Amino acid sequence: MKAASFEYQRPATLQDALRALADAGGAAKVMGGGQSLGPMLNLRLARPKQVVDVSSLGELRQVTAEGDLLRIGAAVTHAEIEDGVHPLLRDGLLQSVAAGIAYRAIRNRGTLGGSLAHADPAADWVLAMAALGAQIEIASPAGTRRVTMERFMHGAYTTELAEGDVLSAVLVPKLGMAARWGYFKFCRKTGEFAEASCAAVFDPSRKLARIVLGALDGAPQALPALAAEVARTAAMPSRETLRSAVAAALPGKDAVDRKLRVAAVERCLHQIFIPELCT
Ligand SMILES: Cc1cc2nc3c(=O)[nH]c(=O)nc-3n(C[C@H](O)[C@H](O)[C@H](O)COP(=O)(O)OP(=O)(O)OC[C@H]3O[C@@H](n4cnc5c(N)ncnc54)[C@H](O)[C@@H]3O)c2cc1C
Repeated sequence: MKAASFEYQRPATLQDALRALADAGGAAKVMGGGQSLGPMLNLRLARPKQVVDVSSLGELRQVTAEGDLLRIGAAVTHAEIEDGVHPLLRDGLLQSVAAGIAYRAIRNRGTLGGSLAHADPAADWVLAMAALGAQIEIASPAGTRRVTMERFMHGAYTTELAEGDVLSAVLVPKLGMAARWGYFKFCRKTGEFAEASCAAVFDPSRKLARIVLGALDGAPQALPALAAEVARTAAMPSRETLRSAVAAALPGKDAVDRKLRVAAVERCLHQIFIPELCT
């Protein structure tokens, strides 16, 4: 199937993009890399009158440091993060997550902001950014606001973005020198969306740990009690502890599904505490 006809716009500035969206009065769609929007247009699940392409806006392509935060423009592609094209992007977790998204052709065009705005529950960035405690920057004609990742994603394919908003950047707290991380996902084959996934960050110097499950029915789900135990003991929890944590977080899941998720958490935490098991 082919997309229904639409008017394509490629504004020169973020202000122009916001104006074009406001003028369209709800009949326009923002386009990042088009890797999810393209199929939706072709299947006619989306039939906008206008498509406003933000993928080459200078304001959305920058990577800067803001104190303890790394500010990554929404139009930076998965491949650019994977390749560490900007020195500030040469961070283990971000590069590793980017390299595991889909196939290189999709990573070449798909953007960080597009993936977060799309809010597929199985997507990698929604999970990684939840584990990192990132904030999302949203531009609108009224100004710019920042929301935590937890508040940003309301559920499957639903976010804090209102009509006419543009996701402009993601603010990622820099990990301390001593910080360690793990990221594990089960996929039927390389390049497919995850069936179960887990991301974890542990910073012993700050006694901070965050462990988050992904590929659920909705937004990623944190395991705060398990994270508190990891922060306190700085050790690999027992399988029984992992089982209890997952069962408490996901009471409705069947046994097979729970087992898959327990294994995802275990393999994710192995990367932090027993890395020799992961090579
Ligand atoms: C075969 C295939 C396999 C894939 N596998 C994976 C995978 O394993 N893991 C994974 O995480 N992803 C995967 N993806 C999704 C891929 O990462 C997409 O790049 C991503 O979901 C969308 O990013 P995009 O920049 O292409 O956004 P687009 O497709 O352009 O847009 C997606 C949605 O976000 C909105 N949008 C885009 N940018 C903005 C913005 N700046 N502000 C506001 N709204 C915006 C659009 O209006 C649209 O609703 C896969 C996609 C395909 C086609």
